[in-house]
Order: sequence, then structure tokens, then C-alpha cells
Amino acid sequence: MNVPRHWREQVRRYRLLGSKCCDCEEISFPYRLVCPKCRSRKCEDYALIGKGKILSFTDINSPPQEHKYNMPYAVALIGLVEGPIITAQITDARAEELEIGMDVEMVTRKIMEYNEDGIICYGYKFRPIVKYAHP
Ligand SMILES: [Zn+2]
Repeated sequence: MNVPRHWREQVRRYRLLGSKCCDCEEISFPYRLVCPKCRSRKCEDYALIGKGKILSFTDINSPPQEHKYNMPYAVALIGLVEGPIITAQITDARAEELEIGMDVEMVTRKIMEYNEDGIICYGYKFRPIVKYAHP
């Protein structure tokens, strides 16, 4: 991703900002100018709460160069509570600790150590929601 695009899109990636159709109320992520369900062009910003469930996941052992610092890591298909399904890196847990249906939450983390422009990119990742056991 080039620098101008990174800066343009970083707010949406940090805040998980999608869109909501003003006609049929379909929620989309990433943001859509045109509703994918009813084709309406009346869409407004909609901040997703950043919680969902793991629908599927895989362990990445041969990542692209810019993600090598992070390996091994898991990538999951996450069904957000508002409906959209997204693909995201999992952080703070190894693939062997993950389960289908596990509750996850969004956190902001370093996405790429460096790319061809020499910048470090931050964005969303997801981690299992920690459930503390009370003694
Ligand atoms: Zn719509």
C-alpha cells in the first residue's frame, strides 16, 4: 500500500469505520458508497464496535515479506456482531489456541514492519476476548 493511500484510509482502519445504508440499514465494512444490498447511494459512516466471532482461521507460516517479523500468526474470517464478515490477523494468540465460534475483539496493532515506502503501518487486528476467572 502506498503512502497517500495509507494516510487516506488509516482513520477507517484504526476505528473500524464502515457504512450504513440510509434506505435498508445494511451495514458494510469497508465503507461503501453504494449499498451492496439495495444499490442505494445514501450511505453514512457507521462505527462498528469491533466485536465478533471466528468463523474460520488458518495458520500463516509463509507470509509476504512485510509480515515476516510477525510469524507465525493466524488469519481469521470474523463475523462481526453487526453482520459484515472480514478477514483479519489474530494477535495475542497462536492458531492452536483458537476455536471456531470464539469471541474476538478488535485492537490496534502494527500491521507491517516496513514496506517499500519505509513506513510502519498500524491497523486493526483481533484477539480472543479474555474471560477472567474470579477466585
Ligand atoms: Zn441498502
